[in-house]
Amino acid sequence: MKIGFVSLGCPKNQLDTEVMLHEIATAGYEITAEETEADIVIINTCAFIESAKKEAIDNIIDIGWLKENRSLKGIIVTGCLSERYRDSIFEELPEVDAVLGVGSIHNIVDAIKAVERGERYSSYEPNDCVKLGGDRVLTTPDHAAYLKIAEGCDNRCTYCAIPSIRGKFRSRPIEDIVAEAKQLEGLGVKELTLVAQDVTRYGIDLYGEYKLAELLHAITEATKIPWVRILYCYPDKITDSLIAEMRDNDRVLKYIDLPLQHISDKMLRRMNRHGGSEKIKEVIAKLRKEIPDIVIRTTFIVGFPGETEEDFEELCEFVKETRFEHMGAFTYSREEGTPAYDFPDQIDEQIKQDRCDILMRLQMQIDAERNEKLVHKTIKVLCEDYDVVSETYYGRSYMDAPEIDGKVFFTAKKKIKPGTFVTVKTDYAEDYDLIGHAAE
Ligand code: SF4
Repeated sequence: MKIGFVSLGCPKNQLDTEVMLHEIATAGYEITAEETEADIVIINTCAFIESAKKEAIDNIIDIGWLKENRSLKGIIVTGCLSERYRDSIFEELPEVDAVLGVGSIHNIVDAIKAVERGERYSSYEPNDCVKLGGDRVLTTPDHAAYLKIAEGCDNRCTYCAIPSIRGKFRSRPIEDIVAEAKQLEGLGVKELTLVAQDVTRYGIDLYGEYKLAELLHAITEATKIPWVRILYCYPDKITDSLIAEMRDNDRVLKYIDLPLQHISDKMLRRMNRHGGSEKIKEVIAKLRKEIPDIVIRTTFIVGFPGETEEDFEELCEFVKETRFEHMGAFTYSREEGTPAYDFPDQIDEQIKQDRCDILMRLQMQIDAERNEKLVHKTIKVLCEDYDVVSETYYGRSYMDAPEIDGKVFFTAKKKIKPGTFVTVKTDYAEDYDLIGHAAE
């Protein structure tokens, strides 16, 4: 039986895919990247906003066509869509044969066996008792991997459905995480990216205090992994010990992903974001002072109910002043089941989009100016692969996170193996990327 897999959404969902792939391979099934060759296709979905839901449903309908017109025997849907719409998914999407909630990823083989027997199957173990971590089949390049340090979220932002999908926040024990980091080092991982819904909350449930700094220290003590990166930090939990660990530990990258969502105190309160604009500005100032070459990535939501032109202007001014190294902007997505869904003063879609475009154009200018300053510099790059089209190698510096930031394209006289660190001299900038040559 050949099993195909479609993995959608964030790195945390991708990690669930990797755990399921390992269970499927261990059970003796063959895994194929070609859905057209598969007997059963598993679609691990995302569903936290409208566009993600649409992408998941489009994939299910497309794969459904293979069931009608090819030899595909069954479709299994896992992840956030099946969790969030557990009561209606079979009715709404009759092409689906089996569904697993986010708490049931370890029942994937039972689901496959049921579909093989031609039966419908569903499993919804409580979303906050699934065993975190575990053996997996990496779907990232050999030299880079994500590592989930916790699951769920207790922040309860008013626009967000994730707490109702993924359950309450729970950390993995430090020993577990360090053991997995050692395992990944053994597989040749050079860049380890720690993820959770909120990595800065790490430890509070298990140890009664924030322990991200200790965790980073423990990982770099127990392994020689050159690059350790953190994603999804929350501004009011950036502790002095975390800043010190990032400043003093050479193998913890001077990179922080800090979704802020807004800067207007009125909007932050309506979003139930903890810590007001003063706290945010204070944290950023401290990061920049203590870690001069820090790279700060952030994201903002525009068009949240009640956002006035003044609120938006305040956000634009903040972006101009702060000059984030990387910034993403999203239009507010009205999600049923979240408190903000029923808020008055919902904003017109066109106004949302216009504000998003204005903010992104602002940032493009900042990115271009920043990239220009990185020309004729020498930077350390983790080579990812060779691009046959541009006939150049490409990779990333510490300033670029996988899959979301820019790249460095470079020529080299000798052959470079993916996963190798290369010293690159930059020659010019292009949009979000840098182009250069390997220093001899
Ligand atoms: S921090 Fe807020 S936006 Fe992020 S997962 Fe938690 S509730 Fe959602």
